[in-house]
Amino acid sequence: MRQDWTGFATANVPRYTSYPTAAQFGGDVGLTEALDWGGRTPARTPISAYLHVPFCEALCWYCGCHTTVPNGYDRIARYVSTVHREIDLWAEALGTHGGVGHLHFGGGSPNALSADDFFALTEHVRATLKVRDGAEIAVELDPRSLTAERVKAMAASGVNRASLGVQTLDPIVQKAVNRIQPREMVEDCVEALKIAGISAINVDLMYGLPHQTVADVIEVAEFCGYHQIKRVSVFGYAHVPWFAKHQRAIDEAALPGLKERATQADMAARALIAEGYVRIGLDHFALPSDPLAIAQREGRLRRNFQGYTDDPYETLIGIGPSSISAFREGYAQNTRRSDVWSEAIHDGRLPTDRGVAVGAEDRLRARAIEALMCNLRVDLDAVCAEMGAKPGALDEALTHMRDLADAGVCVIVGKTIVVPEDARMLVRNVAQAFDAYSVRDGQGKHAIAV
Ligand code: SF4
Repeated sequence: MRQDWTGFATANVPRYTSYPTAAQFGGDVGLTEALDWGGRTPARTPISAYLHVPFCEALCWYCGCHTTVPNGYDRIARYVSTVHREIDLWAEALGTHGGVGHLHFGGGSPNALSADDFFALTEHVRATLKVRDGAEIAVELDPRSLTAERVKAMAASGVNRASLGVQTLDPIVQKAVNRIQPREMVEDCVEALKIAGISAINVDLMYGLPHQTVADVIEVAEFCGYHQIKRVSVFGYAHVPWFAKHQRAIDEAALPGLKERATQADMAARALIAEGYVRIGLDHFALPSDPLAIAQREGRLRRNFQGYTDDPYETLIGIGPSSISAFREGYAQNTRRSDVWSEAIHDGRLPTDRGVAVGAEDRLRARAIEALMCNLRVDLDAVCAEMGAKPGALDEALTHMRDLADAGVCVIVGKTIVVPEDARMLVRNVAQAFDAYSVRDGQGKHAIAV
């Protein structure tokens, strides 16, 4: 990372997994909008569904997810029963649609669910929302609590992609973040999934953790190559203790500095490329045969709440507390409070309590941001034409990125903006020039760019 880019690298920038971002969500969107927007889903159009499981065996101190440690399985069982009812409410609200093309179980740790509960939930989604033939059914997994019985239930449920939270293989780092999972444990999970027929395996790798070194990120990259992991996401640890209170347990003095973080990210990328991975957008890597790499080659790469994806569907139903649903007309988020979420559902109401309406100008800016985040380049005239906007409608962004262009973080040729390879990690800074809310309201409390 160039020395003169330090100011950009330490700027607070959104991840742009949506636009407008969650920072714009407010209480003026609620049940009425969720029902209205959901009801407008076209009859034959496929949808995606996200099911949140907010439970974990133990809290990792770096975690920024909405999750808790349950006190026994009763609480999880009650949760599952309420989720069944929420699925029914969504099925009713959506009416006829083209079925679920992507089903994603996230968390928390979906493998906190018992084998029977996981199987029953998937069957319920099949019966009510309808799962399309060939749909991707993906699940995020915590290696520490993955049992043979659960793997079997997932395979029987049609799960065809699994994402393992690995992050680091260094025992010292694992101890410093309260996530102890020896290398052999992760290897056993990979093998168990493959034997069960779930061979599309993703791994999350982190850099910037306390006591972490370049050697550790290289070890994880080589581990991925050796086991032919299909996709690897490389995330910088975002230290936001004002938001994620348990991050206060992390020893700030042991956190790598900016220069070291940038080196770790760079070395992770080099090691993954040496293992045969293709670089995808800001922070993903995939084997060339993986659908994500193919989508990138064919210009079909998209970005959603899970990061980079080949999921093309506009409608996403979010199930569980804090989950976000996306519609053409806007985003609708479920309440984060489990008790309020449960009460609403048992009263027969969808638990939406905030969100944001998305207008034509938002959609135009969102498309420019997505194109830039996916391809590291965007042709403003092409985006305006694609979105039916008048030529020049995005030109104002060129002014907002002038300092970035002057510093070499992006190159502007006519109306095309290109982020050079050495500035890839700053692509969000360039995308921010299209963000009308960020330009108006300032940087907000996002994590730093690198
Ligand atoms: S297992 Fe995942 S979701 Fe759970 S605390 Fe750790 S990082 Fe967070």
